[in-house]
Amino acid sequence: AAEQSDGPLAGLDPDQLRAAGAPAGPLLIVAGPGTGKTRTLTRRIAHLCARGVPPERVLAITFTRRAAEEMAERLADLVGDAARAMAVTTFHSWGLRLLREFPQRFGLTPDFAVASEQRRLEVVGTLTGDARGARAVLGELSRLRRSGCVPTGTAAVTPGEDGAGTPPEVGAPSGEPDPELVELATRYLGVLRSHDLVDLDDLVALPTELLESDADLRSLVRARHPWVSVDEYQDVDEVQYRLLRALVPPEGNLTAIGDPDQAIYSFRGADVRFFLRFQEDFPGANTVSLTRNYRSNRHIVAGALQAIAPTTLVPGRALLPSAALPATRIGLHQAGDERAEASFVARTIDALLGGSSFHSLDSGRASGEGDEGLGFSDIAVLYRTDAQASAVVEALTVAGVPFQKRSHDRLRERPGVAELVAELRYVPPAPPGGGGPVTVLDRLRRAADRLAARVPVGERAERLVLLDTAVDLLRGLAARCGADLDRFRDELALGVEVDTLDPRADRVALLTLHAAKGLEFPVVFLVGCEDGLLPHRLPGTPPGEQDPAALAEERRLFFVGMTRAQRHLYLSSAANRFRHGASRPGVPSPFLSALDGGVYQRIGQAGPKASRPARQLRLL
Ligand code: ATP
Ligand code: MG
Repeated sequence: AAEQSDGPLAGLDPDQLRAAGAPAGPLLIVAGPGTGKTRTLTRRIAHLCARGVPPERVLAITFTRRAAEEMAERLADLVGDAARAMAVTTFHSWGLRLLREFPQRFGLTPDFAVASEQRRLEVVGTLTGDARGARAVLGELSRLRRSGCVPTGTAAVTPGEDGAGTPPEVGAPSGEPDPELVELATRYLGVLRSHDLVDLDDLVALPTELLESDADLRSLVRARHPWVSVDEYQDVDEVQYRLLRALVPPEGNLTAIGDPDQAIYSFRGADVRFFLRFQEDFPGANTVSLTRNYRSNRHIVAGALQAIAPTTLVPGRALLPSAALPATRIGLHQAGDERAEASFVARTIDALLGGSSFHSLDSGRASGEGDEGLGFSDIAVLYRTDAQASAVVEALTVAGVPFQKRSHDRLRERPGVAELVAELRYVPPAPPGGGGPVTVLDRLRRAADRLAARVPVGERAERLVLLDTAVDLLRGLAARCGADLDRFRDELALGVEVDTLDPRADRVALLTLHAAKGLEFPVVFLVGCEDGLLPHRLPGTPPGEQDPAALAEERRLFFVGMTRAQRHLYLSSAANRFRHGASRPGVPSPFLSALDGGVYQRIGQAGPKASRPARQLRLL
């Protein structure tokens, strides 16, 4: 142990040490939020490299590009330049690289492309004769395919010698797939292939099917990356799980890390039963759990555990809060409507930061009164649906609080970008770092001008922020891709949940609960804690008729949101909210009633208009 407390394993607690220093072979780390899972994983990889594992043999899979970049950075801090040789990537990016390497084996030409959303909508619209319903159908097709019900059609599946080709029997929990939908999926794929196109689901499905059937390719990828890890394992879907099984033999070095209570993608086909499957498919796997939460103050940890308790998938699990953080209670606030809620956020931010940013309303408060050393980038505003962002954007804009909004849409679908991508086809292979991005900038600015006159101020600000970050992103991307135009195009197409958050910018982060997974912030506002919004329900569904599984997933989402907070957590709701075209009365979320009185404090109007707001906040 003494030897292990130096180097890559320094500063880990005993459980983390056991996990990071576990022997070769399958390893499952199951632990709650903020227990250092991601940290332990990066340390394990660094430790392995220190023990002689060549960095180029390491494959670390994450779900989002941001998570991959963050992990790559942490690894670079730990092992230096060697980190560059590691494949730290998303499932999709990894798949795309394999397709580019062996296009013919997948029945593609070397010029294949990733279909744009627009193109996919057109294909489905044509096949169904209903352009308006196309988006919903695409969603259904995707769900069907992620649960492994539709073969992509390159290969007949034959089990490998170690069972790698045998699909596990855990998929399709909802029974037989709709045959009409399966047929539509087959025709849709046929059209894509006839145009040498793949979609995002193909990027995982095609490699999975081929690896299951092609023993040569399987040996090749296994030899290339004998050390595989996957973070946020609770969110793997059927196809991704099969891919992992094809990539790693049963006794192989697969480290899976996750928290069943943070599973928030079952609507996309993720299934926490893959935790159980892991033990069966990788027999002899070491299992380690971590119990100490290093992220959040004790009221936040206690509140989060109370919130998840009714449907926890890990009953009786220990989660010990960090003693190092001051025990500030969770702030509960009910506003009149969504605009008042948003200005509560803006005022509280101002108070926390000592008032220096709130020029317009600052009534002579001494600066430096705020919380110890907080900056804008320490703050996040989380919401269930993207539509909730505009009220917040407007309030922050008015208050002069700098912010950045994480966008869910693909960079490539942004105004101006799609045209650019189309144009790139005709651009001779020149470094995209040269004239390319400048053209993009011009186009985006022109598009912004056309938008700009008729939309409300909040939305306008939001769009401009989006466009600005899009331009920066394109610049960054172009620089990373150098002269490789194909890669530039691929990366653009891949930005599924393209990350428009720059972790280095001193701005408040606005993001959906789904996008917040894995992240942490000293201050978190979780807005819209109302029945119907969180838990989210489609309009017209009475509360009692919500599917219990869907309700449980909403609760996990609430749990994920709460556990992003380190020092201050605010949960707010509005008594009236503009939703679906009308102002409707809002009822506070039933999730709030799970909280014990000891962990929260109700707060009224915070900010300069109340008496001594900063002090009042600190008393919480
Ligand atoms: P999530 O479930 O949200 O993904 P996680 O389990 O991956 O959380 P990390 O993000 O790895 O947790 O760690 C949470 C925070 O705790 C980070 O700021 C990390 O640096 C810190 N941390 C983890 N382990 C330790 C430790 N042994 N000593 C000090 N800080 C730690
Ligand atoms: Mg993590």
